[in-house]
Amino acid sequence: MCSKIAGHLKQQDFFKRVIESGRLSHSYILSGISGIGKRMFALEIARSLFCKNGSFFTECSCSSCTQVKAGTYPDLYVYGGSELKVENIRQISESAGMTGLASKWKVFILDEAEKLSNSSQIVAGNAFLKTLEEPGEDSLFLLITSKYEMIMPTIRSRCSQVEFAPLNHKEMYSVLSEIRPDMQNMEDIIETCGGSVERALMIDDLKISDLLLDIKSRNFKKFIDFILNCNDIQIIKAVMEFIYPLSLAQYKKTGRYSYCAYGDYILEILKRLNYNINIDLARHDFVSKTYEVFSERI
Ligand SMILES: [Zn+2]
Repeated sequence: MCSKIAGHLKQQDFFKRVIESGRLSHSYILSGISGIGKRMFALEIARSLFCKNGSFFTECSCSSCTQVKAGTYPDLYVYGGSELKVENIRQISESAGMTGLASKWKVFILDEAEKLSNSSQIVAGNAFLKTLEEPGEDSLFLLITSKYEMIMPTIRSRCSQVEFAPLNHKEMYSVLSEIRPDMQNMEDIIETCGGSVERALMIDDLKISDLLLDIKSRNFKKFIDFILNCNDIQIIKAVMEFIYPLSLAQYKKTGRYSYCAYGDYILEILKRLNYNINIDLARHDFVSKTYEVFSERI
């Protein structure tokens, strides 16, 4: 993963101010689309509280920072969405009530915090609510989510929300150049990934350009399976954005009007996907139109 935080300077300033002035609250929700570094940011906040040299988002190799980076610092507790179960929440509550083992601070990072609101996790959600009501001294809860509105209102009302924006072009370029320097079509991918590193890596991993080559050679199986099973609308839009220039190139090459009409169709459906259209219908339509146009023989 990337070794440095890209962007989010306003959020850094905010936390720097509240930490330095001693006004750090007990609980924050870091919200924003997935894949923009919220978890890494939360770990940096924890590191700055534990650091022996008072570093803040800057490199440090003191023993505390080294332990935070290795995931072994005793007062740092990090839980992923599937770990937000009642037994772990009880553990969190217990640790929050005790004195820190190595620091005065205890930091709890709860990733995919919206999962605490799943009906199956409701006991855990309520247990966590109690913990938030009596957080214990010097405990900091950093909840991370890409679905802020799905977090229980009672939990939301006890936390301050800090919103994170998608990364801009320059920030995306800087992160991707570091973690995947040999990425092909990096500029195109940045254009289509909506400012999310996670999505850019997914688009690269999926080898969308391979899907397009398959379509060109009338081999549709992988493409159809992929689109019908993909639940991320941004990824479907990325495939459409990649296929659009292909349809124009085919039109230029063959002179067939159906490619030109298909290009118009892609632009139209991309526009409609920004509104609340039925995604299931849209992707079935997209698959059948693509098949119809690209399977036609001259
Ligand atoms: Zn340090």
